[in-house]
Amino acid sequence: MKQGKANVIIAGGGTAGVIAALAAARNGAKTLIIEKQRCLGGQFTAGMQGAWVGFSDKEKVIVKGIAWEIKELLEQRGAMVVDNPETDVCYLYDTEVAKVVLDEMVAKEPNLSVYLDTSIVDTVTEGDAVVGLIVLSGTTLMEIRADVVIDCSGDAVVAEKAGAPFEIREKKDIQPMTLMGKISGVDLDKVKEYYRTHPPVVDHHVPPAWREFKTFPGFMHFGLHDELENVELPPNLEYLRNWLGIFTSTPNPGEVTINCSGAIEAHSTEGFESRSEQESFSQKCLYDMSEAFKKYVPGFENAYLSAIASLLGVRESRRIIGDYKVTLEDFNAAREFEDSIGRGAMPAGAHTPDGITMYVYNLEPGKSMTIPYRCMLPKGKDGLIVAGRCVSYEAPVANCIRCMPQCMAMGEAAGVAAAIASKQGISPRDIDIALLQKTLKDQNAIL
Ligand SMILES: Cc1cc2nc3c(=O)[nH]c(=O)nc-3n(C[C@H](O)[C@H](O)[C@H](O)COP(=O)(O)OP(=O)(O)OC[C@H]3O[C@@H](n4cnc5c(N)ncnc54)[C@H](O)[C@@H]3O)c2cc1C
Repeated sequence: MKQGKANVIIAGGGTAGVIAALAAARNGAKTLIIEKQRCLGGQFTAGMQGAWVGFSDKEKVIVKGIAWEIKELLEQRGAMVVDNPETDVCYLYDTEVAKVVLDEMVAKEPNLSVYLDTSIVDTVTEGDAVVGLIVLSGTTLMEIRADVVIDCSGDAVVAEKAGAPFEIREKKDIQPMTLMGKISGVDLDKVKEYYRTHPPVVDHHVPPAWREFKTFPGFMHFGLHDELENVELPPNLEYLRNWLGIFTSTPNPGEVTINCSGAIEAHSTEGFESRSEQESFSQKCLYDMSEAFKKYVPGFENAYLSAIASLLGVRESRRIIGDYKVTLEDFNAAREFEDSIGRGAMPAGAHTPDGITMYVYNLEPGKSMTIPYRCMLPKGKDGLIVAGRCVSYEAPVANCIRCMPQCMAMGEAAGVAAAIASKQGISPRDIDIALLQKTLKDQNAIL
């Protein structure tokens, strides 16, 4: 088998992973990203999210560091919409320009290499320590050894393969998946005017998401509940009536991203037939929803589905059992952890498994929860740090901790921690937390 070596391997070059890689490389570690997509960024780019939420606690900015550098690079290219960064919870960006920005940032780091279109298939372990990965490019297998592996796969694939403990909710309880897309040719002025003159009917029998009519610096609207109320739909489209559908404008004229529930009561970690069903069903939902917007929302008359994301949006899958599990109580108390590596302030909660609505727990403006380093360390395993949506937390904390700025903050902390551990020849669990925190602060991170 082909052999390779790095100080730090980043397993998954997605939202958390690219930042982890930049941080590790900038802190002196020879770093390698393994990414199975054909671009960097994961949900941030290929997932076509387009709306960063979680940079602010509605009074001030709570995430900076490398994520903030990306924000500024996007802004310089006119690929970002934000009015007041201190108070806006939603920063809208162009997902395609973001791919190029990430490539350019990565290319500037002499310590950083990238293997795209390459899948992690197994781990190399020695006792309780992860010491490398087996990866597949085309039909060629390669064993790559490293001092530290950072699992940024979103699904905790390295942790699972290495036998680290994890949890995943049953299908009946898990959040739905969503394939994102873009609709172009929208007359946004007309759409805004329509929603201004037809605000959602406040009916307390309907799920709260329908009542959460919000205008962000761009534009965001939930669902088609009122529009479809008196419409007779063919049986195969009945499901649209109560489904959560969110559209958000982008920095480009006449373009919105669309986010509607897709594969429900399904595990993203299942392969083969199940995976294919999830993908094609989500694609059908996206098309049905965009056709419904076209037919029933003024301003969408000449619109068309112009892009479908290349990466299915997974809200929830495996979460590791870490040295510490962040609880809903921690969120509600806006807990200040001693080993804080970042902050989150978006409402906790989750989308309901039926795809209809979401439940939320809010923090007051100005308050945020800290994210402890320990939730990124899988219990009983050495040589492995986890960052992104698969760290250790109670399921209802999800909608706060899995937001992209929070995943990026975790990625940055994991990268710095891995570089320190590699340099000192110690386990990530044994690094000096004060040194980690000082290094992060020196790099403009907010803890
Ligand atoms: C529908 C939806 C809407 C959302 N809306 C928002 C929003 O509006 N604002 C917000 O801030 N957040 C939002 N989120 C949350 C946020 O996008 C994600 O939680 C976050 O991007 C996850 O980051 P991550 O790094 O953990 O995973 P990802 O960004 O998914 O990165 C994981 C990477 O690992 C790679 N990978 C996985 N397995 C392997 C393997 N075996 N081999 C090699 N590579 C592998 C993947 O290809 C991927 O690139 C949304 C999420 C979804 C699904």
